[in-house]
Amino acid sequence: MKYYSLNGQSPKVGFKDATIRGQAPDKGLYFPESLPRLTEDWLNRFPHMSNEDIAFDVIRPYVENEIPEDELRRIIAETVNFPTPLVRINDRISALELFHGPTLAFKDTGARFMSRCLGYFAKAEHEKITVLVATSGDTGGAVAHGFYGVDGVEVVILYPSGKVSSVQEKQLTALGKNIHALEINGTFDDCQQMVKQAFADSSVTAKRKLTSANSINIARWLPQQFYYFFAIKQWEDLKNPPVICVPSGNFGNICAGILAHLSGLPIKHFIAACNSNDVVPRYLHSGQYHPEKAVPTLSNAMDVGNPSNFIRVLQLLENNFARIKKLLSGYSITDRETTSIIRSVWQETGYLLDPHGAVGYLSLQRYLDENPNQKGCFLETAHPVKFYDVIEPVIQEKVPVPASVQALINLPKKSTPMGADYEELKNYLLKN
Ligand SMILES: *Cc1c(COP(=O)(O)O)cnc(C)c1O
Repeated sequence: MKYYSLNGQSPKVGFKDATIRGQAPDKGLYFPESLPRLTEDWLNRFPHMSNEDIAFDVIRPYVENEIPEDELRRIIAETVNFPTPLVRINDRISALELFHGPTLAFKDTGARFMSRCLGYFAKAEHEKITVLVATSGDTGGAVAHGFYGVDGVEVVILYPSGKVSSVQEKQLTALGKNIHALEINGTFDDCQQMVKQAFADSSVTAKRKLTSANSINIARWLPQQFYYFFAIKQWEDLKNPPVICVPSGNFGNICAGILAHLSGLPIKHFIAACNSNDVVPRYLHSGQYHPEKAVPTLSNAMDVGNPSNFIRVLQLLENNFARIKKLLSGYSITDRETTSIIRSVWQETGYLLDPHGAVGYLSLQRYLDENPNQKGCFLETAHPVKFYDVIEPVIQEKVPVPASVQALINLPKKSTPMGADYEELKNYLLKN
């Protein structure tokens, strides 16, 4: 498989180069040259296969022989080694729980796959690789955990000060060793902008081999397809596929779902569930795409005003607005609606939503209200305990904190404070 740049000014590369570079030299996102088609026979068989075998078959055409089969099987085994149960909440709505990985968020899958691929490629290079990443909340922890202690890889994480939860902050600041956290006095968009500038700055890239672990990296983006196969595998009625609702920020996750669907996976419809950062729902309404400055919300991992991966969604659907509208709906949910749905679902069913899942739940419910006779699932992208500070006042009860999380909260935070200023980041990268 070759990957081309969506800016069209860089040469095509294979899986290895696209993974190491993160972004193409012309600053475009890499995109697969062709879409693998799953056969009818495979689609009939996969619900009876193991998650590992499914994941291997799905990712193989994207990696080809750039990683040998036994290595790729080992990487997959370490990537999908936690459960992803589909939990029924009521007659029409189920949750696909993606938070059973080590940092309690769905990003563990992409981060684990990517760190292991990069570790494999780094063995051949005798040069240190620096993973530079901006996080709005969960990426940092998943990336930090995925790369912790990996030889030859330094990780520099930028996060917006005061805009991530206390559990999230500890997940990315407490590890130390090869993991460095920069606490930026600004928003996630500022962090993302600074990271983009560093990649474009040859005085930095001449000195350090930089790669991105944001969802623009194909090695994080592509394995997210697995969830959608795991959802359909557990779906009650394969003749009537579900509507799938995805809490969205940078749009990497939902974009992977659409990719899986275009490869043949039956999914009835997609819903982009957004908080007040609603560029995409407004686009789906008006056809006008206007990125905005991000505003902070309770579902902070979705506080993105200019979603990087949406351009891939447009590309997958050939920029055809009618086709896009047919496959994708969007809803925007306020913080007040988020807390209110957390409370009512808890009281009525005993299911505890995290703020991101709550945005997903309510968006799905709205769609189903407008579309009778359909059923669906939303992706529950984070464990509610990560947001206990938000949830406890809402349900007026204590959220039980697992011992592993309590131990983490008690660790000291190690971060370097920094202004939302590229020059400061540049100095840091050149000095350290
Ligand atoms: C990152 C994240 C999202 C948004 O995913 P994207 O792929 O950026 O759209 C949603 N929920 C949680 C908990 C996240 O960490």
